Amino acid sequence: MRSVRTVGWGHYLLVGALISASVLLIPLGIGRDVLYSLVGASAVVAMLVGVRRNHPLHRRGWFLMAAGTAIWVMGDTLYAWYSDVAFIEPFPSLADVFYLAAYPVLAAGLLVLARSRGAERQPTALLDSAILTAGLGVLSWVFLIEPTWTADGVSMLERLVGVAYPLGDVLLFAMLVRLATAPGAWGIPSRLLAGSVALLILSDSLYLAGSFVPLIGDNLTVLDPGWLISYVLWGAAALHPAMGTLSLPSLKRSERTRAGRFVALAGALLIGPAILGFELITGAPLHAGAVVIASGFLVVLVLVRMVRMVHQVQDQAERLGQLADTDYVTGLANRRRFTDRLSELLGDSRRHVGGLLKIDLERLSEINDTLGHRTGDALLLAAGNRLSQLTGPRALVARLGDSSFGILDPSITSDGQADDAAVRIRMALEQPLDLPDVSVAFEVSIGVLVLPDDGTQAPLALGRVDLALCAAKKRPGRTARYSTELETGATLAPALVGELGDALRDGQIVLHYQPQIEIGSGRVLGVEALARWQHPRHGLLGPDLFIPAAEQTGLIAPFTQHVLDAALRQCARWHRGGLDLTVAVNLSARNLLDPGLVDDVRAALARHCVGAEALELEITESSAMVDPRRSMQVLGELSDLGVTLSVDDYGTGHSSLTYLQRLPVRRLKIDRSFVTGLLGDDASAAIVRSTIELARHLRLDVVAEGVEDDDTLLRLRDMRCFAAQGFGLGRPVAGPLLPELVARIEERLPEVLGSPALRGRPDKPAVIPIF
Ligand code: C2E
Ligand code: CA
Ligand code: CA
Repeated sequence: MRSVRTVGWGHYLLVGALISASVLLIPLGIGRDVLYSLVGASAVVAMLVGVRRNHPLHRRGWFLMAAGTAIWVMGDTLYAWYSDVAFIEPFPSLADVFYLAAYPVLAAGLLVLARSRGAERQPTALLDSAILTAGLGVLSWVFLIEPTWTADGVSMLERLVGVAYPLGDVLLFAMLVRLATAPGAWGIPSRLLAGSVALLILSDSLYLAGSFVPLIGDNLTVLDPGWLISYVLWGAAALHPAMGTLSLPSLKRSERTRAGRFVALAGALLIGPAILGFELITGAPLHAGAVVIASGFLVVLVLVRMVRMVHQVQDQAERLGQLADTDYVTGLANRRRFTDRLSELLGDSRRHVGGLLKIDLERLSEINDTLGHRTGDALLLAAGNRLSQLTGPRALVARLGDSSFGILDPSITSDGQADDAAVRIRMALEQPLDLPDVSVAFEVSIGVLVLPDDGTQAPLALGRVDLALCAAKKRPGRTARYSTELETGATLAPALVGELGDALRDGQIVLHYQPQIEIGSGRVLGVEALARWQHPRHGLLGPDLFIPAAEQTGLIAPFTQHVLDAALRQCARWHRGGLDLTVAVNLSARNLLDPGLVDDVRAALARHCVGAEALELEITESSAMVDPRRSMQVLGELSDLGVTLSVDDYGTGHSSLTYLQRLPVRRLKIDRSFVTGLLGDDASAAIVRSTIELARHLRLDVVAEGVEDDDTLLRLRDMRCFAAQGFGLGRPVAGPLLPELVARIEERLPEVLGSPALRGRPDKPAVIPIF
């Protein structure tokens, strides 16, 4: 169907052009004039058929153009009647009335098309049309209008009709340029139309020039194919299947068209000088006055055009700026804009800034996964709209992340208002969001700050509001105001992690040692090395503040190496002083994936001349599960070295017993969460008891962590637990203080445990009362 239509306009164009050209072969007379009128009429029919076939959006424009063409054809027919039937050639005649009447109708048709493309939305297009039209106008004035007007021996009516033609052509040209500069596609139909108008203007102009240029005047009939082909081109444009695009607005125009437009504008500016040059060279009478006035007018128009262009560029830059500051899903401000505004407000230190709220929608990623991203985006848009409605006009609402929004509300001036706003917004945002096919309720968490009290710099404030949001997620009310108590390792660690490397080199990482007691004997059999950071500014920092960060950054390998070295050096020192203790070092999951670990351990033992049996390495259940195959190999090699391996925090992971059985571990350290509840909580007691029994079957020693009082110790003794560790027995202390602590523990415990009094170490002579 489509191809038939395409062939339609092509056939019409080809056959029409051939017939148009062939009129030259037909002698002047009625036959030629009938053919002439038929070609014109065919264009009218082609336009009406084109409208029927192609259903353009604005049929009115095409109907006007068909009407204009029809009026022309009537003019042709009348003209033929004068010359072939009445044998008179009056000028002006009724035919001229028809001819001239057609110009405004055709121009109106073109204007309707131009307007339907949105031409009026582009003031620069109007200017461009004016500049190009003025350019053509000068040409027309100098070569056609002025000579016609000042011709000798012609009546006023003849002059008026004579100049009306070039004016009509200029009008058509103006409308064509209006159409060409309007936004929209510039395809084959547009080119056919432009070609038609151009050919018409050329033929008209040559015809008129025939009055002064004898060469043309003597051969006027040669111009006939020009008008005829102009008809055919117009008709072919209407038949083209894409003719509808002539009246379709579009926002995009290709750069080539723009560049072409500037070339045309420059050309219009050059017309004046070109005319003067031509007249000087050929010796024709100079039109200096007219050309200077017209060129001055053109220069003013081009200047206005340039000013507009500068404004346009500025507007575009502004729009781009806005786009860069906008979140494309919700149309709200984006994180960049929000942070900039926050910095701006906080920059003025004396000023009250207002409340900063960070809002998070839970489950968004699940919704995206199950309902699709389009639904997710629609929900975000709805949530953003609701947030905007919930806040005052002075508040800035932004989308900060995938599922999080931020609000900067200057109307919040107190803590109470901040809390109220958070609760109000949470409740309103948790009401279901209704989309056409789904209704979704989000769980919402909100963190709040009051600025500048809770932060005087944007990064700090944003960090703290995150902290408040984290706290909110753990609270039943799901809102939280920032407070200094929320500052934990989570906020300290990122700042610290950068300093950790230097701290290791500078010896700021030190070890404290916590005794492990053999319950059966009350003897201290070993210690656990626990890392501390003697920080020059923050004081002594616990491992929870920096170990997670060290694990994430890959610093954990040199860190563990450092701990191992320090612990074994200390251990060797105690051994030399007669204190025969084992030392336990904690390993991280990452250490177990490090193929160099076994060699490092072996080398450290050798360096400090400590036997492998004096070293214990603690791993957690989950760390051995990260990559079981590799961990198993590393653990096997460590065990082969003779090192004691123990499972730390036992009970908190999910390892199966059969898996544990396959590990070459010798000890289970029951996590202190079970041990602390041993006396008051039956479940904990049951877990500890069954773990001890299970360990016995597996031939593992059990160490109970977190023993904070003697009753717990006694209960563990009754359960026949092997060893214990905890604040109730001895807190972690620096290496040099340990011998004294050991002595105190071994002094006190036999009494508590009711075990045989045992004073001193077994390798030393025990202090036994002599009877
Ligand atoms: P962990 O291995 O379970 O170490 C025992 C933690 O419990 C120590 O905290 C210790 O001070 C504490 N503790 C001991 N007895 C009691 C008690 O009776 N009650 C209570 N409430 N706590 C008790 P610390 O020193 O803060 O160490 C925390 C964690 O940091 C350790 O837990 C261990 O997982 C990790 N860690 C410490 N040093 C190192 C190290 O050098 N390397 C690695 N990878 N991790 C380490
Ligand atoms: Ca441990
Ligand atoms: Ca532990």
